[in-house]
Amino acid sequence: YDIAELRRLDIAHHLPAQADWQEIENLGGSRIITHAEGCYIHDGDGNRILDGMAGLWCVNVGYGRDELADVAAEQMRELPYYNSFFKTANPPTVLLAHKIAGLTQNRLPHVFFNSSGSEANDTVFRLVRQYWKLKGEPKRKVFISRWNAYHGSTVAGVSLGGMKAMHPIGDLPIPGVEHVRQPYQFNEGRDMTPEAFGTACAEAIEAKILEVGPENVAAFIGEPVQGAGGVIIPPANYWPQVEAICRKYGILLICDEVICGFGRTGNMWGHETMGVKPDMIAMAKGLSSGYLPISAVAVSDEIIKVMKTGGDFVHGYTYSGHPVSAAVALRNIEIMEREGLVDKVRNETGPYLAKALASLDDHPLVGETRSVGLLGAVEIVADKATGARFGGAEGTAGPLVRDICIANGLMVRGIRDSIVMCPPLIISTAQIDELVGIIRKSLDKAEPLLRA
Ligand code: PLP
Repeated sequence: YDIAELRRLDIAHHLPAQADWQEIENLGGSRIITHAEGCYIHDGDGNRILDGMAGLWCVNVGYGRDELADVAAEQMRELPYYNSFFKTANPPTVLLAHKIAGLTQNRLPHVFFNSSGSEANDTVFRLVRQYWKLKGEPKRKVFISRWNAYHGSTVAGVSLGGMKAMHPIGDLPIPGVEHVRQPYQFNEGRDMTPEAFGTACAEAIEAKILEVGPENVAAFIGEPVQGAGGVIIPPANYWPQVEAICRKYGILLICDEVICGFGRTGNMWGHETMGVKPDMIAMAKGLSSGYLPISAVAVSDEIIKVMKTGGDFVHGYTYSGHPVSAAVALRNIEIMEREGLVDKVRNETGPYLAKALASLDDHPLVGETRSVGLLGAVEIVADKATGARFGGAEGTAGPLVRDICIANGLMVRGIRDSIVMCPPLIISTAQIDELVGIIRKSLDKAEPLLRA
Protein backbone atom coordinates (compact mmCIF):
# COMPACT_ATOMS: atom_id res chain seq x y z
CA TYR A 1 0.00 0.00 0.00
CA ASP A 2 0.95 3.62 -0.48
CA ILE A 3 0.40 4.61 3.14
CA ALA A 4 0.87 8.35 2.59
CA GLU A 5 -1.80 8.27 -0.11
CA LEU A 6 -4.15 6.24 2.11
CA ARG A 7 -3.74 8.84 4.86
CA ARG A 8 -4.53 11.60 2.42
CA LEU A 9 -7.67 9.78 1.26
CA ASP A 10 -8.58 9.05 4.89
CA ILE A 11 -8.59 12.77 5.67
CA ALA A 12 -10.41 13.66 2.45
CA HIS A 13 -13.16 11.02 2.60
CA HIS A 14 -13.25 8.74 5.62
CA LEU A 15 -15.02 9.69 8.83
CA PRO A 16 -13.69 7.39 11.57
CA ALA A 17 -15.97 6.30 14.42
CA GLN A 18 -16.03 8.06 17.80
CA ALA A 19 -13.38 10.51 16.67
CA ASP A 20 -12.46 14.17 16.62
CA TRP A 21 -12.14 14.55 12.84
CA GLN A 22 -10.23 17.81 13.11
CA GLU A 23 -7.72 16.18 15.45
CA ILE A 24 -7.21 13.30 12.99
CA GLU A 25 -6.67 15.77 10.18
CA ASN A 26 -4.14 17.65 12.32
CA LEU A 27 -2.37 14.35 13.00
CA GLY A 28 -2.04 13.73 9.26
CA GLY A 29 -4.70 11.03 9.07
CA SER A 30 -5.52 7.80 10.88
CA ARG A 31 -3.00 5.10 11.74
CA ILE A 32 -3.50 2.56 8.94
CA ILE A 33 -3.67 -1.00 10.27
CA THR A 34 -2.59 -3.28 7.46
CA HIS A 35 -2.48 -6.81 8.85
CA ALA A 36 -2.48 -8.85 12.02
CA GLU A 37 -1.60 -12.26 13.40
CA GLY A 38 -2.22 -13.90 16.77
CA CYS A 39 -2.20 -11.11 19.36
CA TYR A 40 -0.38 -8.52 17.22
CA ILE A 41 -1.51 -5.85 14.78
CA HIS A 42 0.75 -4.14 12.24
CA ASP A 43 0.50 -0.58 10.95
CA GLY A 44 1.61 1.00 7.70
CA ASP A 45 4.66 2.54 9.37
CA GLY A 46 6.04 -0.90 10.15
CA ASN A 47 5.05 -0.96 13.84
CA ARG A 48 4.07 -4.28 15.42
CA ILE A 49 1.69 -3.61 18.30
CA LEU A 50 0.51 -6.04 20.97
CA ASP A 51 -3.28 -5.79 20.81
CA GLY A 52 -4.29 -5.36 24.42
CA MET A 53 -7.84 -4.52 23.28
CA ALA A 54 -8.60 -7.53 21.02
CA GLY A 55 -9.58 -5.01 18.36
CA LEU A 56 -12.54 -3.38 20.06
CA TRP A 57 -13.14 -5.99 22.82
CA CYS A 58 -13.90 -8.65 20.22
CA VAL A 59 -11.10 -10.67 18.59
CA ASN A 60 -11.30 -13.42 21.21
CA VAL A 61 -9.66 -16.20 19.16
CA GLY A 62 -6.94 -13.86 17.87
CA TYR A 63 -6.05 -12.82 14.35
CA GLY A 64 -5.10 -14.97 11.38
CA ARG A 65 -7.45 -17.91 11.74
CA ASP A 66 -7.42 -19.46 8.28
CA GLU A 67 -10.30 -21.76 9.06
CA LEU A 68 -12.61 -18.78 9.65
CA ALA A 69 -11.62 -17.37 6.26
CA ASP A 70 -12.15 -20.80 4.69
CA VAL A 71 -15.57 -21.35 6.24
CA ALA A 72 -16.65 -17.88 5.11
CA ALA A 73 -15.51 -18.58 1.54
CA GLU A 74 -17.26 -21.96 1.49
CA GLN A 75 -20.50 -20.46 2.78
CA MET A 76 -20.31 -17.59 0.28
CA ARG A 77 -20.11 -20.10 -2.53
CA GLU A 78 -22.97 -22.20 -1.13
CA LEU A 79 -25.36 -19.44 -0.06
CA PRO A 80 -23.86 -15.96 0.36
CA TYR A 81 -27.06 -14.34 1.56
CA TYR A 82 -30.63 -14.97 2.33
CA ASN A 83 -33.01 -13.18 4.67
CA SER A 84 -35.26 -14.45 7.43
CA PHE A 85 -38.29 -12.28 6.55
CA PHE A 86 -40.14 -14.63 4.22
CA LYS A 87 -40.75 -17.49 6.68
CA THR A 88 -37.25 -18.54 5.63
CA ALA A 89 -34.12 -19.60 7.45
CA ASN A 90 -30.75 -21.04 6.45
CA PRO A 91 -28.69 -23.90 7.86
CA PRO A 92 -25.87 -22.00 9.65
CA THR A 93 -28.34 -19.61 11.27
CA VAL A 94 -30.56 -22.37 12.64
CA LEU A 95 -27.55 -24.33 13.86
CA LEU A 96 -26.08 -21.23 15.51
CA ALA A 97 -29.35 -20.48 17.31
CA HIS A 98 -29.33 -24.06 18.62
CA LYS A 99 -25.68 -23.70 19.67
CA ILE A 100 -26.29 -20.43 21.54
CA ALA A 101 -29.32 -21.90 23.30
CA GLY A 102 -27.11 -24.75 24.50
CA LEU A 103 -24.49 -22.30 25.75
CA THR A 104 -27.18 -20.85 28.02
CA GLN A 105 -28.06 -24.38 29.25
CA ASN A 106 -31.31 -23.83 27.38
CA ARG A 107 -32.44 -21.23 29.92
CA LEU A 108 -32.57 -18.70 27.07
CA PRO A 109 -33.51 -21.01 24.21
CA HIS A 110 -34.85 -18.49 21.65
CA VAL A 111 -32.40 -16.46 19.59
CA PHE A 112 -32.91 -13.39 17.39
CA PHE A 113 -30.04 -12.29 15.13
CA ASN A 114 -28.80 -8.82 14.22
CA SER A 115 -25.49 -7.44 12.96
CA SER A 116 -24.17 -5.35 15.86
CA GLY A 117 -24.35 -4.98 19.60
CA SER A 118 -26.28 -1.74 19.17
CA GLU A 119 -28.89 -3.42 17.00
CA ALA A 120 -29.13 -6.25 19.52
CA ASN A 121 -30.02 -3.71 22.20
CA ASP A 122 -32.60 -2.10 19.92
CA THR A 123 -34.13 -5.54 19.58
CA VAL A 124 -34.07 -5.90 23.38
CA PHE A 125 -35.82 -2.54 23.72
CA ARG A 126 -38.68 -3.46 21.41
CA LEU A 127 -39.03 -7.03 22.65
CA VAL A 128 -39.33 -5.87 26.25
CA ARG A 129 -41.96 -3.21 25.60
CA GLN A 130 -43.95 -5.51 23.35
CA TYR A 131 -43.80 -8.29 25.93
CA TRP A 132 -45.31 -6.10 28.64
CA LYS A 133 -48.01 -4.84 26.28
CA LEU A 134 -49.01 -8.35 25.31
CA LYS A 135 -48.94 -9.38 28.95
CA GLY A 136 -51.54 -6.73 29.70
CA GLU A 137 -49.22 -4.39 31.61
CA PRO A 138 -48.66 -1.65 28.99
CA LYS A 139 -47.62 0.90 31.60
CA ARG A 140 -44.40 -1.01 32.17
CA LYS A 141 -42.17 0.98 29.83
CA VAL A 142 -39.26 2.30 31.87
CA PHE A 143 -35.78 0.86 31.56
CA ILE A 144 -33.36 1.33 34.41
CA SER A 145 -29.70 1.46 33.45
CA ARG A 146 -26.47 2.77 34.97
CA TRP A 147 -24.42 5.89 34.39
CA ASN A 148 -21.42 5.16 32.18
CA ALA A 149 -23.12 2.05 30.81
CA TYR A 150 -22.43 1.47 27.13
CA HIS A 151 -25.16 -0.22 25.13
CA GLY A 152 -24.33 1.07 21.66
CA SER A 153 -24.53 4.01 19.31
CA THR A 154 -28.05 3.76 17.89
CA VAL A 155 -30.80 5.95 19.33
CA ALA A 156 -31.99 3.20 21.69
CA GLY A 157 -28.43 2.10 22.45
CA VAL A 158 -27.28 5.59 23.42
CA SER A 159 -30.47 6.13 25.43
CA LEU A 160 -30.08 2.88 27.34
CA GLY A 161 -26.42 3.76 27.80
CA GLY A 162 -25.26 6.18 30.44
CA MET A 163 -22.49 8.01 28.62
CA LYS A 164 -23.11 11.66 29.42
CA ALA A 165 -20.89 12.80 26.53
CA MET A 166 -23.04 10.86 24.06
CA HIS A 167 -26.47 12.03 25.20
CA PRO A 168 -26.43 15.59 23.82
CA ILE A 169 -25.68 14.35 20.29
CA GLY A 170 -29.18 13.70 18.97
CA ASP A 171 -30.85 15.04 22.11
CA LEU A 172 -30.97 11.74 23.92
CA PRO A 173 -31.96 9.78 25.92
CA ILE A 174 -35.43 9.12 24.58
CA PRO A 175 -38.14 9.17 27.26
CA GLY A 176 -38.49 6.13 29.48
CA VAL A 177 -34.89 5.47 30.45
CA GLU A 178 -33.67 6.18 33.97
CA HIS A 179 -30.05 6.00 35.09
CA VAL A 180 -28.64 5.08 38.48
CA ARG A 181 -25.12 5.02 39.90
CA GLN A 182 -22.54 2.54 38.64
CA PRO A 183 -20.77 0.26 41.15
CA TYR A 184 -17.44 2.11 40.81
CA GLN A 185 -15.93 1.59 44.22
CA PHE A 186 -12.54 3.15 43.52
CA ASN A 187 -14.22 6.46 42.71
CA GLU A 188 -17.21 6.46 44.98
CA GLY A 189 -16.77 4.06 47.86
CA ARG A 190 -13.19 3.63 48.95
CA ASP A 191 -14.14 4.24 52.56
CA MET A 192 -16.69 1.40 52.50
CA THR A 193 -16.37 -2.38 52.59
CA PRO A 194 -17.11 -4.00 49.23
CA GLU A 195 -20.27 -5.52 50.76
CA ALA A 196 -21.59 -2.19 52.03
CA PHE A 197 -20.77 -0.53 48.73
CA GLY A 198 -22.38 -3.31 46.67
CA THR A 199 -25.52 -3.05 48.78
CA ALA A 200 -25.63 0.75 48.46
CA CYS A 201 -25.41 0.52 44.66
CA ALA A 202 -28.09 -2.17 44.46
CA GLU A 203 -30.31 -0.12 46.79
CA ALA A 204 -30.00 2.81 44.36
CA ILE A 205 -31.83 0.64 41.84
CA GLU A 206 -34.59 -0.16 44.30
CA ALA A 207 -34.92 3.52 45.19
CA LYS A 208 -35.29 4.37 41.49
CA ILE A 209 -37.93 1.66 41.05
CA LEU A 210 -39.92 3.12 43.94
CA GLU A 211 -39.50 6.66 42.60
CA VAL A 212 -40.75 5.68 39.13
CA GLY A 213 -43.39 3.31 40.51
CA PRO A 214 -42.79 -0.43 40.16
CA GLU A 215 -45.86 -0.75 37.94
CA ASN A 216 -44.10 1.47 35.37
CA VAL A 217 -40.78 -0.33 35.27
CA ALA A 218 -40.15 -2.79 32.43
CA ALA A 219 -36.57 -3.90 32.90
CA PHE A 220 -33.17 -3.36 34.40
CA ILE A 221 -30.32 -3.63 31.90
CA GLY A 222 -26.63 -3.87 32.71
CA GLU A 223 -23.31 -5.16 31.53
CA PRO A 224 -22.12 -7.79 34.04
CA VAL A 225 -18.87 -5.81 34.06
CA GLN A 226 -19.11 -2.36 32.52
CA GLY A 227 -16.53 -2.27 29.74
CA ALA A 228 -16.42 1.09 28.00
CA GLY A 229 -17.50 2.67 31.29
CA GLY A 230 -14.05 1.83 32.66
CA VAL A 231 -13.99 -1.93 33.38
CA ILE A 232 -16.09 -1.50 36.50
CA ILE A 233 -16.05 -4.78 38.42
CA PRO A 234 -18.84 -4.73 40.99
CA PRO A 235 -18.53 -6.20 44.49
CA ALA A 236 -19.56 -9.87 44.61
CA ASN A 237 -22.86 -9.15 46.39
CA TYR A 238 -24.03 -6.51 43.90
CA TRP A 239 -25.50 -8.57 41.07
CA PRO A 240 -27.29 -11.13 43.29
CA GLN A 241 -28.93 -8.21 45.08
CA VAL A 242 -29.86 -6.60 41.77
CA GLU A 243 -31.46 -9.85 40.68
CA ALA A 244 -33.38 -10.15 43.96
CA ILE A 245 -34.69 -6.58 43.54
CA CYS A 246 -35.82 -7.29 39.97
CA ARG A 247 -37.64 -10.44 41.11
CA LYS A 248 -39.23 -8.61 44.07
CA TYR A 249 -40.89 -6.11 41.71
CA GLY A 250 -41.45 -8.48 38.76
CA ILE A 251 -39.02 -6.52 36.56
CA LEU A 252 -37.13 -8.16 33.70
CA LEU A 253 -33.39 -8.60 34.20
CA ILE A 254 -31.33 -8.09 31.06
CA CYS A 255 -27.60 -8.60 30.75
CA ASP A 256 -25.67 -6.95 27.96
CA GLU A 257 -23.05 -9.62 27.29
CA VAL A 258 -21.62 -7.87 24.24
CA ILE A 259 -18.17 -7.67 25.88
CA CYS A 260 -18.51 -10.16 28.74
CA GLY A 261 -19.91 -13.04 26.68
CA PHE A 262 -17.82 -15.80 25.13
CA GLY A 263 -15.32 -16.37 27.88
CA ARG A 264 -14.10 -12.88 28.63
CA THR A 265 -14.61 -13.13 32.40
CA GLY A 266 -13.57 -16.78 32.74
CA ASN A 267 -17.02 -18.28 32.17
CA MET A 268 -18.99 -18.46 28.95
CA TRP A 269 -21.15 -15.56 30.17
CA GLY A 270 -20.44 -12.63 32.45
CA HIS A 271 -23.73 -13.28 34.25
CA GLU A 272 -22.43 -16.71 35.29
CA THR A 273 -19.37 -15.05 36.81
CA MET A 274 -21.71 -12.65 38.62
CA GLY A 275 -24.03 -15.46 39.75
CA VAL A 276 -27.34 -14.31 38.23
CA LYS A 277 -29.91 -15.67 35.78
CA PRO A 278 -31.17 -12.99 33.38
CA ASP A 279 -34.37 -13.17 31.34
CA MET A 280 -32.67 -11.96 28.19
CA ILE A 281 -29.10 -11.36 27.03
CA ALA A 282 -27.55 -9.40 24.18
CA MET A 283 -24.32 -10.67 22.62
CA ALA A 284 -22.06 -9.65 19.71
CA LYS A 285 -18.26 -9.15 19.41
CA GLY A 286 -16.87 -12.51 20.68
CA LEU A 287 -19.72 -14.37 18.98
CA SER A 288 -17.69 -14.21 15.75
CA SER A 289 -14.48 -12.86 17.31
CA GLY A 290 -15.17 -9.83 15.13
CA TYR A 291 -14.36 -11.71 11.90
CA LEU A 292 -17.79 -10.76 10.55
CA PRO A 293 -20.55 -8.57 11.99
CA ILE A 294 -23.16 -10.58 13.89
CA SER A 295 -25.06 -10.18 17.14
CA ALA A 296 -27.86 -11.99 18.90
CA VAL A 297 -30.46 -11.67 21.61
CA ALA A 298 -31.24 -14.84 23.58
CA VAL A 299 -34.61 -14.87 25.31
CA SER A 300 -36.41 -16.99 27.90
CA ASP A 301 -39.25 -19.35 27.05
CA GLU A 302 -41.66 -17.39 29.26
CA ILE A 303 -41.13 -14.21 27.23
CA ILE A 304 -41.40 -15.90 23.85
CA LYS A 305 -44.58 -17.71 24.89
CA VAL A 306 -46.14 -14.30 25.48
CA MET A 307 -44.67 -12.88 22.27
CA LYS A 308 -46.26 -15.71 20.31
CA THR A 309 -49.72 -14.46 21.31
CA GLY A 310 -49.08 -11.15 19.50
CA GLY A 311 -48.92 -11.99 15.81
CA ASP A 312 -46.07 -10.53 13.75
CA PHE A 313 -43.13 -9.10 15.67
CA VAL A 314 -42.60 -6.39 13.10
CA HIS A 315 -38.89 -6.00 13.66
CA GLY A 316 -35.84 -7.27 11.80
CA TYR A 317 -32.83 -6.39 9.74
CA THR A 318 -31.74 -7.28 6.22
CA TYR A 319 -28.83 -9.13 7.80
CA SER A 320 -30.78 -10.90 10.57
CA GLY A 321 -29.55 -14.47 10.25
CA HIS A 322 -26.83 -13.78 7.69
CA PRO A 323 -25.58 -17.21 6.62
CA VAL A 324 -21.91 -16.27 6.22
CA SER A 325 -21.73 -14.49 9.58
CA ALA A 326 -23.51 -17.41 11.21
CA ALA A 327 -21.16 -19.97 9.67
CA VAL A 328 -18.16 -17.99 10.91
CA ALA A 329 -19.67 -17.62 14.38
CA LEU A 330 -20.31 -21.37 14.57
CA ARG A 331 -16.73 -22.16 13.65
CA ASN A 332 -15.46 -19.48 16.03
CA ILE A 333 -17.33 -21.13 18.92
CA GLU A 334 -15.98 -24.50 17.81
CA ILE A 335 -12.43 -23.10 17.99
CA MET A 336 -13.08 -21.73 21.49
CA GLU A 337 -14.35 -25.14 22.61
CA ARG A 338 -11.61 -27.14 20.88
CA GLU A 339 -8.89 -24.98 22.43
CA GLY A 340 -10.54 -24.79 25.85
CA LEU A 341 -10.26 -21.00 25.81
CA VAL A 342 -12.86 -20.33 28.52
CA ASP A 343 -11.16 -22.73 30.94
CA LYS A 344 -7.79 -21.24 30.03
CA VAL A 345 -9.01 -17.77 30.98
CA ARG A 346 -10.58 -19.02 34.21
CA ASN A 347 -7.70 -21.20 35.37
CA GLU A 348 -4.57 -19.82 33.81
CA THR A 349 -4.42 -16.49 32.01
CA GLY A 350 -7.08 -14.65 34.04
CA PRO A 351 -5.35 -15.31 37.40
CA TYR A 352 -1.99 -14.63 35.74
CA LEU A 353 -3.17 -11.22 34.48
CA ALA A 354 -4.49 -10.34 37.95
CA LYS A 355 -1.10 -11.14 39.51
CA ALA A 356 0.85 -9.37 36.79
CA LEU A 357 -1.30 -6.24 37.16
CA ALA A 358 -0.89 -6.37 40.94
CA SER A 359 2.86 -6.06 40.37
CA LEU A 360 2.09 -2.48 39.29
CA ASP A 361 0.50 -1.62 42.63
CA ASP A 362 3.82 -0.25 43.92
CA HIS A 363 4.03 2.31 41.10
CA PRO A 364 3.61 5.91 42.32
CA LEU A 365 0.91 6.61 39.69
CA VAL A 366 -1.19 3.49 40.34
CA GLY A 367 -4.20 3.86 42.61
CA GLU A 368 -5.66 0.45 41.89
CA THR A 369 -5.35 -2.45 39.49
CA ARG A 370 -8.31 -4.74 38.96
CA SER A 371 -9.33 -7.49 36.61
CA VAL A 372 -11.76 -10.32 36.08
CA GLY A 373 -10.77 -12.95 33.56
CA LEU A 374 -9.03 -11.08 30.76
CA LEU A 375 -10.68 -7.74 31.39
CA GLY A 376 -8.52 -5.33 33.36
CA ALA A 377 -7.94 -1.73 34.40
CA VAL A 378 -5.25 0.42 35.98
CA GLU A 379 -6.39 3.53 37.86
CA ILE A 380 -3.96 6.44 37.54
CA VAL A 381 -3.72 8.86 40.44
CA ALA A 382 -1.60 11.85 41.44
CA ASP A 383 -1.63 10.83 45.09
CA LYS A 384 -1.83 7.19 46.10
CA ALA A 385 -2.91 8.01 49.66
CA THR A 386 -5.89 10.21 48.81
CA GLY A 387 -6.67 8.94 45.31
CA ALA A 388 -6.54 12.53 44.02
CA ARG A 389 -6.47 12.76 40.26
CA PHE A 390 -4.20 14.87 38.10
CA GLY A 391 -5.62 18.30 37.41
CA GLY A 392 -8.12 17.83 40.22
CA ALA A 393 -10.74 16.43 37.85
CA GLU A 394 -11.10 13.12 36.08
CA GLY A 395 -10.02 12.60 32.56
CA THR A 396 -6.51 13.71 31.73
CA ALA A 397 -4.24 10.82 32.61
CA GLY A 398 -5.83 7.87 30.78
CA PRO A 399 -5.49 9.18 27.22
CA LEU A 400 -1.92 10.38 27.91
CA VAL A 401 -0.76 7.00 29.24
CA ARG A 402 -2.65 5.24 26.44
CA ASP A 403 -0.76 7.22 23.79
CA ILE A 404 2.57 6.38 25.42
CA CYS A 405 1.59 2.69 25.59
CA ILE A 406 0.75 2.71 21.88
CA ALA A 407 4.08 4.38 21.07
CA ASN A 408 5.71 1.63 23.14
CA GLY A 409 3.96 -1.11 21.17
CA LEU A 410 0.82 -1.85 23.19
CA MET A 411 -2.76 -1.00 22.22
CA VAL A 412 -4.87 -0.15 25.27
CA ARG A 413 -7.75 2.23 25.80
CA GLY A 414 -7.63 5.34 27.99
CA ILE A 415 -10.90 5.91 29.81
CA ARG A 416 -10.92 9.02 31.98
CA ASP A 417 -8.05 8.46 34.46
CA SER A 418 -7.59 4.78 33.77
CA ILE A 419 -6.28 2.55 31.08
CA VAL A 420 -8.22 -0.60 30.33
CA MET A 421 -7.35 -3.83 28.56
CA CYS A 422 -9.12 -6.76 26.99
CA PRO A 423 -6.57 -8.90 25.11
CA PRO A 424 -7.41 -11.86 22.86
CA LEU A 425 -8.27 -14.98 24.88
CA ILE A 426 -5.32 -16.75 23.27
CA ILE A 427 -2.80 -14.43 24.93
CA SER A 428 0.08 -16.34 26.53
CA THR A 429 1.55 -15.68 29.96
CA ALA A 430 4.73 -14.38 28.28
CA GLN A 431 2.61 -11.92 26.29
CA ILE A 432 0.84 -10.84 29.50
CA ASP A 433 4.30 -10.10 30.93
CA GLU A 434 5.04 -8.07 27.81
CA LEU A 435 1.74 -6.18 28.19
CA VAL A 436 2.31 -5.32 31.85
CA GLY A 437 5.97 -4.48 31.20
CA ILE A 438 4.95 -1.92 28.59
CA ILE A 439 2.39 -0.41 30.97
CA ARG A 440 5.07 0.02 33.66
CA LYS A 441 7.51 1.57 31.22
CA SER A 442 4.75 3.90 29.95
CA LEU A 443 3.72 4.96 33.47
CA ASP A 444 7.39 5.76 34.20
CA LYS A 445 7.50 7.95 31.11
CA ALA A 446 4.14 9.60 31.90
CA GLU A 447 4.95 10.51 35.49
CA PRO A 448 7.18 13.56 34.90
CA LEU A 449 4.81 14.77 32.16
CA LEU A 450 1.78 14.50 34.45
CA ARG A 451 3.56 16.10 37.40
CA ALA A 452 5.05 18.95 35.32
N1 PLP B 1 -23.02 -3.21 24.38
C1 PLP B 1 -21.79 -3.23 24.93
C2 PLP B 1 -21.61 -3.71 26.33
C3 PLP B 1 -20.68 -2.81 24.19
O1 PLP B 1 -19.48 -2.79 24.76
C4 PLP B 1 -20.89 -2.39 22.86
C5 PLP B 1 -19.74 -1.96 22.04
O2 PLP B 1 -18.66 -1.72 22.52
C6 PLP B 1 -22.18 -2.39 22.35
C7 PLP B 1 -23.22 -2.82 23.13
C8 PLP B 1 -22.45 -1.92 20.96
O3 PLP B 1 -21.99 -2.85 20.05
P1 PLP B 1 -21.73 -2.42 18.53
O4 PLP B 1 -20.58 -1.47 18.54
O5 PLP B 1 -21.42 -3.73 17.85
O6 PLP B 1 -22.96 -1.82 18.02
